Amino acid sequence: MGKYPRRTRDTLGRPIPDRLLPIFAGAQRLDEWCRLAEILQIKLGVLAQEEFGCHLHPASLNELFEKLKQHGLAAIPYALCDCHPQELDCPKCEGRRWLTQNEYLEAYTPRQ
Ligand SMILES: [Zn+2]
Repeated sequence: MGKYPRRTRDTLGRPIPDRLLPIFAGAQRLDEWCRLAEILQIKLGVLAQEEFGCHLHPASLNELFEKLKQHGLAAIPYALCDCHPQELDCPKCEGRRWLTQNEYLEAYTPRQ
């Protein structure tokens, strides 16, 4: 087994079917990638304070890293889709059977 405990439930606590276990294991890898980006951001910020780093612009770098992290976080598998397993053209998940958090909120937030 890898270094991650095996996730057996989605973020909403629902059991993940076997077929989708690798997807939700990947969620943890994406999450770790975002934490690594955070570390790189901090390290580059430290270098930017050095004389040799005077051309590193902390505000611009932070903006780039924030975008990068948001992009990574937005891609993380969040929840199972409620569609039927045989429904191949579900408009919410396009047949993947899982959604990111943004997709979930978009699909399942009742419209006023
Ligand atoms: Zn679906």
